[in-house]
Amino acid sequence: MTALRHRRFAGTALLAFAPLLLAQAPAPDAPKPATSATLAAQRGAAAALPQEDNRDATFARQGFIATRADPLIKAADGRPVWNLAAYDWVAGAAPDTVNPSLWRHIGILRQHGLFQVADGIWQVRGFDISNMTVVRGNTGWILIDPLTGRETAKAAMDLVNEKLGQRPVTAVIYSHSHGDHFGGVRGVVDEADVKSGKVAIIAPAHFMAETVSENIMAGAAMGRRVMYQFGTALQPGAQGQIGSGIGSGVSGAEITLIAPTDTINKTDESRVVDGVPMEFQIVSGSEAPSELNVYIAPTRTFLSSEMTTCSLHNILTPRGAKVRDARIWANFIDEALQTWAAAVTA
Ligand SMILES: [Zn+2]
Repeated sequence: MTALRHRRFAGTALLAFAPLLLAQAPAPDAPKPATSATLAAQRGAAAALPQEDNRDATFARQGFIATRADPLIKAADGRPVWNLAAYDWVAGAAPDTVNPSLWRHIGILRQHGLFQVADGIWQVRGFDISNMTVVRGNTGWILIDPLTGRETAKAAMDLVNEKLGQRPVTAVIYSHSHGDHFGGVRGVVDEADVKSGKVAIIAPAHFMAETVSENIMAGAAMGRRVMYQFGTALQPGAQGQIGSGIGSGVSGAEITLIAPTDTINKTDESRVVDGVPMEFQIVSGSEAPSELNVYIAPTRTFLSSEMTTCSLHNILTPRGAKVRDARIWANFIDEALQTWAAAVTA
């Protein structure tokens, strides 16, 4: 927001000294229609796209149970931090200002709600940039990745308890050290329950060191660049913001953290979490400097955090996250395939 305010201020100063110049030129941040060059590029992009088979759209709808009735998720002071209806206007052919592939992408990403993934495993999707996975344990819910912020995570949890029955959270797993995979923890867990041993928090080795390094030491610069990478200061629209790659946008919810109580140090480690056997693969140095994947044998379910997604991640992000080693990343995907693919696809 700061950067945009500065740009507006610069525009105002210019208005005082050079009114003629401003009369001829639009404000620097005013949306503009597509130029003929943009239009030609969009048509070229559309012609180069492979034929649509609707497989992604079918996958995205699969297992849908329900979504939240009120589209607005608000902070305690009433400020909206997320709007589930922000992309309801996305329908039909791509507008001239939007790349046709990006348009197709947001049409899939904008779906939201509670989805069943396997027996005893669900996901809340579209309540933030990331998804929250919910596993039914013997006595309560095991959560994998409690979204980016307190309010969106709480809204996701409320939907789970409303549709699947009220149960306590017994464990939280942080798949990796990026803020959108732990920041909502205080919306779903009371720290007193972690301290008393009622709730376990499991994370990959070096999680706290990498979280502090990326979100605090480099936090101010990264936070500012996030606005440019994800367009957080823009409104959703055909001449504004259209998606953020792995999700529709970054929420404005409060980022929180509770330190892990249990650390996974290496691949092949396993735990029985609230009665559910889980095998772990450490994939640190791929998409994040501290990251793990989880395999749940009874349902033959592999959760690959962000190591494999339907989007193509950056190797070097514009916001300045640590460089991802593409070779190590590819090796981890091979390792996962060799270890679990046969069981998952059997
Ligand atoms: Zn990530």
